[in-house]
Amino acid sequence: MSGGPAEQGKNTRLVTSGRRKEWTGPVVNPPVWRASTHLYETEADRKAGGTSNSDGEFYYGRRGAPTQWALSDALTQLEPEAFGTVLYPSGVAAITGALLAVLRPGEVLLVTDNAYEPTRLAALGLLKSFGIETRFFDPLDLDGFEHAFCEKTKAVMLESPGSLTMEVSDVPALAAIARDKGAVSLLDNTWASPLGFAALEHGCDISIMSLTKHVGGHSDLMMGSASAGEKYYRRLRRTAQALGHVVSPDDASLALRGLRTMGVRLKKSTASALEIARWLYGRPEVGFVRCPMLPDSPDYRLWQRDFTGGCGLFCFVLKDSSEAARARFIDTLDLFGIGYSWGGFESLVIPFDPASIRTAMPWPPASAGTGERLGIRLSIGLEDTEDLIHDLERGFTAMEQA
Ligand SMILES: *Cc1c(COP(=O)(O)O)cnc(C)c1O
Repeated sequence: MSGGPAEQGKNTRLVTSGRRKEWTGPVVNPPVWRASTHLYETEADRKAGGTSNSDGEFYYGRRGAPTQWALSDALTQLEPEAFGTVLYPSGVAAITGALLAVLRPGEVLLVTDNAYEPTRLAALGLLKSFGIETRFFDPLDLDGFEHAFCEKTKAVMLESPGSLTMEVSDVPALAAIARDKGAVSLLDNTWASPLGFAALEHGCDISIMSLTKHVGGHSDLMMGSASAGEKYYRRLRRTAQALGHVVSPDDASLALRGLRTMGVRLKKSTASALEIARWLYGRPEVGFVRCPMLPDSPDYRLWQRDFTGGCGLFCFVLKDSSEAARARFIDTLDLFGIGYSWGGFESLVIPFDPASIRTAMPWPPASAGTGERLGIRLSIGLEDTEDLIHDLERGFTAMEQA
């Protein structure tokens, strides 16, 4: 499946990947192939192609067409050491599809305690109903992680930085322990994307992304992906086909369009997020800021060691505030929409209080001062940074006016 020259820079690969001549024809982008049925020239042709079970060969619409193949090929070329990429109708479908591909009844799954909440809920609901047990672990405690394994532990679900609270964990160390124990490691790599973190190269077996975020980039589509080496790619693919997971060619075309500009968008939003995080760090209303790119952050050391890029998503915690004051802050913002998701061209804000969904690591963290509890997550878009700072400044002013 893979192919592009690995020595090329990431931005070059963002431009060239997935654009095979047999898919694009004489135009720049692969056309939108809306197709269920593939017509064969002859009965002998049909017979020859009849059992095709791989991407890149036409058989029937559920197995994709050139528009979807171009997207999965492009994603494979962006993920060092990947053999192939399976596309899913959403990021959550990618997570559950991948977990179902690697786990069997009676086995145990370890999930990082700061996982995306729907991941947690799928483990405790769907997977449990299939006889799979889930245990949560503190991703900052390597010793504890090692001791969390039992004979039946067959898979580990990682996410770094963690959802909402943004802790960076030592993924290479966690993945190495998992491998040593004979467990598959899956990483939700939505935050960094392969541009910021080469998951497979750092020891993970399966790299998962919600393409809804950075790849789509324009808040207008839902999609997910899982990339892996040959062995796990084949299992992912088989399970996805069994579950009937397909993505529409129209959405694949939109995702490809987003992918071409992902590098410049991430560069801009990362720089803007860092500047805003720095500004927040100096504000008296702020208890602490969790932005891995910020040199004052406890996560900076690992981020600098392992990552080659960031993004616009980070969080901060108010100091000595109330829920009403936090709501005033959020309601006052003009440039930040109140909404879930992130990674679009527009900035977003959402409050968070994860205490009730943490069972293996404390929230607020032990390092937090008293009164440092109420979280705010920002997704920084492509607006001018000074305008966003001005908007946040208005929010703080409103917060003080009880
Ligand atoms: C949004 C998100 C997902 C799920 O993606 P959808 O495309 O919305 O289903 C998974 N992981 C993380 C970290 C996310 O932020």
